[in-house]
Amino acid sequence: MTKRSREEILEEIEEMHLLRKKVMSGEKIPCPKCGEYLIFYGKNSGKHPGIFCPNNDFEILIEYSNHFFKK
Ligand SMILES: [Zn+2]
Repeated sequence: MTKRSREEILEEIEEMHLLRKKVMSGEKIPCPKCGEYLIFYGKNSGKHPGIFCPNNDFEILIEYSNHFFKK
């Protein structure tokens, strides 16, 4: 396990949250790994909700019980 500070981990969580919010609001966000535009699958898409790269090298799964989703 790599040694990381609590701040680094929190920062990464915050970045993921921000990225997810942007993609969900319709912004075109390139994959951090390959640069393809990320795809958002919603609750009723028949797939696990989340943000996915078309090249399958990046994903953020969304759990709707997550407190981030309470408005
Ligand atoms: Zn990618």
